[in-house]
Amino acid sequence: MQKPLLSLSNVKKYFPMGSGLFGKRNQWVKAVDGIDLDIYPGETVGLVGESGCGKSTVGRMIVGLEKPTEGEIFFQGEKLIHHRKNHKELGKNLQMVFQDPYSSLNPRMTVTDIIEEPLILHRIGTKKERRKKVDALLERVGLSSDYGNRYANQFSGGQRQRIGIARALILDPKLIVCDEPISALDVSIQAQILNLLKEIQKDMGLSYLFIAHGIQAIKHMSDRVAVMYLGRIAELSETNELFNRPLHPYTKALLSAVPEPKRRERERILLKGDLPSSTNPPKGCRFHTRCPVAMEKCKEIEPRLVSTSEQGLTACLLYEDKTAANL
Ligand code: SF4
Repeated sequence: MQKPLLSLSNVKKYFPMGSGLFGKRNQWVKAVDGIDLDIYPGETVGLVGESGCGKSTVGRMIVGLEKPTEGEIFFQGEKLIHHRKNHKELGKNLQMVFQDPYSSLNPRMTVTDIIEEPLILHRIGTKKERRKKVDALLERVGLSSDYGNRYANQFSGGQRQRIGIARALILDPKLIVCDEPISALDVSIQAQILNLLKEIQKDMGLSYLFIAHGIQAIKHMSDRVAVMYLGRIAELSETNELFNRPLHPYTKALLSAVPEPKRRERERILLKGDLPSSTNPPKGCRFHTRCPVAMEKCKEIEPRLVSTSEQGLTACLLYEDKTAANL
């Protein structure tokens, strides 16, 4: 059986509320509150959920931009320790494409310098070798190598995102966290960037954690999809199964908002209220305050993520009972 490339085990990230002398240091924003997730070689796992559900924080912990409060992250079976030496070595394999191609590229650096920088930081290659690699990558992402001497602010959003992708690829990573990589781009070029990411994955055998709140992009990109709600995974399943047979009431509501002409028309499920505060998530099932089929016990019992099909897991008491009954 194939071993996971990356594994998250009960990973949590709590941020202190406020800061400084008058910050509420005893109150915490529970951005990620106990996530287990495996990503296998060559696969794309989509991570979807409303703004504030913690999905970007998961990505930032994987690439070492945030340190988990609790839990462990393993890369090829080796524990990622979030101190510089360990993360610098293993971190070469874990790169990120950021949401905003306008703010993520230094406007005072040339395109070549931006893409080459990780090689210099890791002391890889001679200047000639590095430049050759940068030129090849510029061509690979659909830009001319003649663009290397220009500055990032001379390019459109789509071109900047291509530069960001080239930078993420320069260290030959095994996994890239794509954090909402198309949400800041014009609709007309979003598909081009998604297709470029797919082509590169096919050529290089990369794995992606693809983070988005747009359901269609998630469906287009992912082999499996994890649906996040308030810092936890509500459902994790193979993509077609999740879209054709969603089980968790939150997944059903998310999918019901997407018009799909070929699919039998699902009734739109409107959720009550806003996402509750992650400082003080609801007791029991954290979705119970908005769930259209909540039961009395949902206010008290916290559902576990249980197996609901060959490849699917769901955290809902409706299925936990059925799973227990079948054992
Ligand atoms: Fe809804 Fe209860 Fe299932 Fe939570 S456990 S999703 S409240 S039915």
